[in-house]
Amino acid sequence: RQSYAEKNPSSLKAYEQATKSLPGGGTRSSIFIHPFPLFIERGEGTEIVDVDGHVYLDFVSDFTSGIYGKTNPVLKKAIIQGLDNGLQLGAHTPTESSLSSALCDRFPSMDLLRFTNSGTEANILAISTGLHCTRREKVVLFQGGYHGSVLSHFGEEGGGGDLKVPYDFIVCPYNDIPGTRDIVQKWNDEVGVIIVEPMIGAGGCIPGDPQFLQFLRDLSTQIGAVLIFDEVQTARLGTGGRQKILGITPDMTTLGKFFGGGFAFGAFGGKEEIMSLFDARQPNSISHGGTFNNSPLTMIAGLTAVQHILTEDNLNKLNKMGDGLREELNSVFQEEELPFNITGLGSINQIHYTPTTEKRQGLDLLFFYLLDRGYWIAQRGLISLNFAMTQEDVRGFEIAVVEAAREVGSVM
Ligand code: PMP
Repeated sequence: RQSYAEKNPSSLKAYEQATKSLPGGGTRSSIFIHPFPLFIERGEGTEIVDVDGHVYLDFVSDFTSGIYGKTNPVLKKAIIQGLDNGLQLGAHTPTESSLSSALCDRFPSMDLLRFTNSGTEANILAISTGLHCTRREKVVLFQGGYHGSVLSHFGEEGGGGDLKVPYDFIVCPYNDIPGTRDIVQKWNDEVGVIIVEPMIGAGGCIPGDPQFLQFLRDLSTQIGAVLIFDEVQTARLGTGGRQKILGITPDMTTLGKFFGGGFAFGAFGGKEEIMSLFDARQPNSISHGGTFNNSPLTMIAGLTAVQHILTEDNLNKLNKMGDGLREELNSVFQEEELPFNITGLGSINQIHYTPTTEKRQGLDLLFFYLLDRGYWIAQRGLISLNFAMTQEDVRGFEIAVVEAAREVGSVM
């Protein structure tokens, strides 16, 4: 077997070059691969091609944002037409309000919303808005939760390198009602915001128990805090996100990733009484700018995606494919006593190496054995499906994962 470095000489060279101007050779820590990342040149459908000419079937789908696959004819057509109308208009546009109205129709908690350029920014604005409304300082969030670049991985192994942020965070245990109640009780009327992912995403695809999420709804009302659901990932589980599936309506919601139809995107929204604070007609409104918040290309791509691709039928099919994948793999892992399991919901899943020691090595080996078989997952185990995939692609992937898992089981 060739070593990873032998197999990927051009990626290694590209990486060495990249480290001269980018720390670690890249600009997103979350996609780094140890010992060095593969450099991808292009993609089509569900395939990606690296600079050494290897072709992989992509089962990461850019950590859920790449739900359309690498290319999509409907989006391409809309974006090309959009280019003819101007790159930047620097003004209110009808497309912007069509997209916001489509999103407000979908998410029960959103009467009004504002766009941003990323999920991180959406969360920062939502948290700050919640604190402003309540005139309080403390923010409750959960272990393993990820709300963006500077709001990351609290309490996770190896998460010691986070930047300081200007919030007074209280970290509570996820899916633990008594544990959370005990901690929050100490602060009660100092807590302005409770922010939670309805399924922990980057922290390992741990679905939130409906009772736990309902408890947070009740607790927020009781103590007068603003409850924010971060649905940056989970919005793709149904047309109205997980909030609609569970019938639990937060005060505010944040969105990101795929709603930009492939471009940089974020949005935060909520009840009218909260979001009308941004109403520029009011004398004391909160000023919220952002040069690219309503970028015409993002707006047209996002609107096209919502109207034609992120339909209930399409989302249901994709989620069903993901449910089938998870069930099938878990049943083989159990039957053959392989050291892995998968957690997640619908089309968003995470493979875990079950032994408590050498977790990292177990997943690393699985990742490299899958690359050998032509499949690309996140090195930390995230698997997310996209619309360019067929049931045959998923079936081929299942077989490859089982083979790779057997191989890991035999060497570790
Ligand atoms: N919230 C969640 C739940 C996320 O998964 C992410 C991105 N992985 C973010 C927020 C941040 O979004 P962005 O990367 O667009 O800043």
